[in-house]
Amino acid sequence: MDTSDIAIVGAGHGGAQCAMALRQNGFAGTITVIGREPDYPYERPPLSKDYFARDKSFERILIRPPAFWAEKSIAFRLGTEVTGVDAQARTLTLSNGQSHGYGRLVWATGGDPRRLSCPGSDLAGVHSVRTRQDCDRLMAQVDAGIKTVVVIGGGYIGLEAAAVLSKAGLHVTLLEALPRVLARVAGDDLSAFYQAEHRAHGVVLRTNTTVDRLEGKDGNVIGVRLGDGALLPAQAVIVGIGIIPSVGPLIAAGARGANGVEVDDHCRTSLPDIFAIGDCAAFACAFAGGAVMRVESVQNANDMASCVAKTICGDPQPYRAFPWFWSNQYDLKLQTAGINLGHDRSVVRGDPASRSFSVAYLKDGRLLALDCVNSVKDYVQGRKLIEAGAMPDLDRLADASLALKEV
Ligand SMILES: Cc1cc2nc3c(=O)[nH]c(=O)nc-3n(C[C@H](O)[C@H](O)[C@H](O)COP(=O)(O)OP(=O)(O)OC[C@H]3O[C@@H](n4cnc5c(N)ncnc54)[C@H](O)[C@@H]3O)c2cc1C
Repeated sequence: MDTSDIAIVGAGHGGAQCAMALRQNGFAGTITVIGREPDYPYERPPLSKDYFARDKSFERILIRPPAFWAEKSIAFRLGTEVTGVDAQARTLTLSNGQSHGYGRLVWATGGDPRRLSCPGSDLAGVHSVRTRQDCDRLMAQVDAGIKTVVVIGGGYIGLEAAAVLSKAGLHVTLLEALPRVLARVAGDDLSAFYQAEHRAHGVVLRTNTTVDRLEGKDGNVIGVRLGDGALLPAQAVIVGIGIIPSVGPLIAAGARGANGVEVDDHCRTSLPDIFAIGDCAAFACAFAGGAVMRVESVQNANDMASCVAKTICGDPQPYRAFPWFWSNQYDLKLQTAGINLGHDRSVVRGDPASRSFSVAYLKDGRLLALDCVNSVKDYVQGRKLIEAGAMPDLDRLADASLALKEV
């Protein structure tokens, strides 16, 4: 049986950053990263942005070139899934039937795309966008000359994919079950803005629209049957309806959690010497009033990874990293600072028609979060205000002629 001082399960953003941060913090023991995908760690955000649009090659989205990992003596077992954890014996069961022993374990497995539960969801031509392989399959269909795509789900990934495909000249319909896109992450003003942008770029956007089933012919998807009985023709369907955290083996081993594995403020699970980070970890978020939640972002995966590395290297510091996020659609760069959970008021700064504006979210007068569209200055200054717990005057906040630092 192979063993390593540290085993990291998941070769994505969090896993890669944890291995790097351990070496940066002087960890001299053995490190093995075990990853289900065949590739070395790569950036996931470009899968619905510049990699999907072919503005970046796969080599350019690798987090580090393969030689880097060898130089740092970080071993990889790729194409290998961890199917079981024995927290007492400190061993992992691998999909190839072998075992791997560990001293300390970092669980960094992200999540699997939520699948449609309706008939037809397993037809060829139905895609998720989570891995490079998902994206390549979809791009191969685009290369083959398909013209009509239906995107199910109006979250960031669905909207970004719709933007790339409509720019490439495909006929795109986007379906959202709720009354507006981005309903779970943004306020009405931002949703209305993005809906108008997508429609102006030719996307047919339908809210309040449910899917009854996917229709197929010879095993390939040919259309989406809506709840009202209408049939939308589709040569490909993209499903972007969220993820389910990949925590099965850890929960089966006794770790506390359900929608993600629960961690304390040093990213420790309830099992001895087992940490969890990134999309799969649920923690009490200091920037959301202490609500226990999972945060799906590169920032969160990287910063939790660094927190664990410091703890392992004897310099424990509680996880309090400031949350931020971004999304690129068309020529619009959205930057989000903070988490707007529980806001009781939102204030728009600037005119959305100018395509450069911000939305501020407040609770009990305190600034919680900002969505900044093509507005880097607001983002940079606003995050300082949020971190400082600012309670801005609302009229001044709404006055875009005043810099945020003066509000
Ligand atoms: C298309 C797309 C666009 C995105 N855009 C943005 C963006 O603009 N900004 C942003 O901040 N975030 C974005 N995100 C989210 C961001 O990519 C994730 O939050 C981040 O990747 C989380 O890192 P992670 O390490 O937790 O998980 P991941 O990066 O998903 O890595 C987890 C890895 O673990 C592997 N794995 C799972 N189970 C096992 C197992 N049992 N054994 C071995 N390996 C396993 C998985 O296959 C995967 O390779 C986007 C995500 C996607 C999919």
